[in-house]
Amino acid sequence: MKYSNILLALYFLIPALTVSAAPAGEVIDRLDLSRPGLELVAQHHREGNDSLASLDLLDYFRHRTDVKSVGVDPADPKLSDEERRWADEGLEHKFFAHSGYQPSYFYGDDIDWQYWPVKDNELRWQLHRTKWWVPMGKTYRVTGDEKYAIEWMLQYRDWIKKNPLTSFDGIKDSGMEEVDNVYFAWRPLEVCDRLEHQIEQFDLFLPSPNFTADFLIDFLDNYHRHADFANSHYSAEGNHLLFEAQRVIYAACFFPEFKDATIWRKTGVDILNREIGKQILPDGVQYELDPGYHLDCVNIFGKALRMMNANGYHGEFSDEYMTAMEKMMEFTYNMCYPDFTMPLFSDSRQKTKRDMMGTYNSWLKFFPENNPLLYFTSEGEKGALPGYNSKAFPAGGFYILRNGWTPQSTMMILKAGPEGEWHNQFDNGTFELWANGRNFFPDSGSFIYGGDEEVLKQREWFRRTAAHNTLTLDGRTLATRVSQLLKWETGDYCDLTVVETPGYEGLTHRRAVFFVEHSFFVIADEAYGEAKGNVALNYHLLPSEPIEDKEHKSVSTSFADGNNITLQVFGAEDMTSEEGWTSPLYRVKYPRPAYAFHAQKSAEKPVRLITVIYPADAAKHDIKAEYTDNDSANGASLEVSIDGKKYPLSYTL
Ligand code: MG
Repeated sequence: MKYSNILLALYFLIPALTVSAAPAGEVIDRLDLSRPGLELVAQHHREGNDSLASLDLLDYFRHRTDVKSVGVDPADPKLSDEERRWADEGLEHKFFAHSGYQPSYFYGDDIDWQYWPVKDNELRWQLHRTKWWVPMGKTYRVTGDEKYAIEWMLQYRDWIKKNPLTSFDGIKDSGMEEVDNVYFAWRPLEVCDRLEHQIEQFDLFLPSPNFTADFLIDFLDNYHRHADFANSHYSAEGNHLLFEAQRVIYAACFFPEFKDATIWRKTGVDILNREIGKQILPDGVQYELDPGYHLDCVNIFGKALRMMNANGYHGEFSDEYMTAMEKMMEFTYNMCYPDFTMPLFSDSRQKTKRDMMGTYNSWLKFFPENNPLLYFTSEGEKGALPGYNSKAFPAGGFYILRNGWTPQSTMMILKAGPEGEWHNQFDNGTFELWANGRNFFPDSGSFIYGGDEEVLKQREWFRRTAAHNTLTLDGRTLATRVSQLLKWETGDYCDLTVVETPGYEGLTHRRAVFFVEHSFFVIADEAYGEAKGNVALNYHLLPSEPIEDKEHKSVSTSFADGNNITLQVFGAEDMTSEEGWTSPLYRVKYPRPAYAFHAQKSAEKPVRLITVIYPADAAKHDIKAEYTDNDSANGASLEVSIDGKKYPLSYTL
């Protein structure tokens, strides 16, 4: 007999494991017993019979109808095959802690909540999100098998017993190998994750005959400790703070019976009202400049609003809140490619069409008249596309050059913004280019987050400037990552953006991107200042087997479907092959061709390079490009010719 089955058998014979929780009376005292429906609880509590009061309370929760969850619907839990596997592996203590570490590790028959097989902080933090518990609840609802409920309760109490909330002075982000378990188990982000998902677990397991009044008291005691802790340990800023506030709002809305719920709700709402003005830049970009976190933040604001609306709390979010949400959405559908994928800038990871549709559909409930949203959610059946193609988001530093919104369109996203925050990489001037269903220059991504030295080393490779499609000096990473927009123009002949990054001491990179006749790209790069050294343009293609022509500083993809690009650099002295990777998901990376085009810079003269990216097969086109002016601080003039056809290009500042 398997160990888990022996445990299960024993479980039917012995009373539920008791943990050192607060007495029932103390937990009941935290409730507002004047609420309708709690009369019997109040009466029995007053009479000193807390055993009866606990039973009444369980009965109350099993029958209450005035509180709504907006998470998993227990009546229709939609269990996926993957979730079923996580649930079943969870029974055997193989816990799904992180998608980047599969197959899941075994945490011991007697669960070791401090087990840390790879010193990646995320692996240990996220164990405490107990991501297999909701799947266990869904599986319980789908199968009706009590073993899932019994095991959940066993693990729930085991977690409480082995992860006590001891002294917690603050979040320690570095040197995590040295810190106490409490900084993993009780990091506010993890606490709040549990706040949200334990609502779903509560709903899913509540009908179980094994969900006893004693367990209810332990659950409420633990849940209240979580919400109370979260509401007094908010992160200082960024997406963590938003996640925390949204989840405290969830706690307040789902357990309004707690006397503290009103203050939790007010604090959470105040934070979101304040932070949406602070974290969302005037063009709708979340200030961490990370498309993935931008999307998370849109969802946070939306979820908080949904939970409040579902439970009848209207009018607590400001008008500015709604305006900012709509702007965030506009940026989102602009930066998404027509196949609903998203760029991999900063710490972003691949999203699927299903992910994006879920988000778009949830937004549509708040903005039912929004034409682009109607269009995207109905895949063109309703609504209308935005009335423009190219669009600049100058506060966030995202410049989108496109010739349409269909799968056949071409679209470049140039990234050159302000400092950003921790998730933002040293990538100013980089871009992704998508054409006709293919992302030719996916960003390198991030591969991994923080951890010990070995983990951090892996992260650093992806954050480096040279891992991006931009200019470097001596291969170094930018010392400062603040760019300025110098010019943005759209027109019939071409769209143009000019950005500048004074990234190194003594060297400024000016990059002008022309989207010529809305069909091909010309990039005019100038590196000026008194610095000298090796200037390189770095380009990273998608995983493929391109045709290289180092003599002509050119490379072309060679896909059999004919959807290809040729990239050619003018003004470089040398072209070298470089190490290249792209990481669409955590700890997943693919090798890909990467190149550097070098020019030696003297203190006296700027380096001026031109890159042409043309959508075609290399052999068929004769491409030439040169500057036609003498260097000037006020602009640039150049001429590009494709198969003899000349394209004069210029800008003045
Ligand atoms: Mg990157």
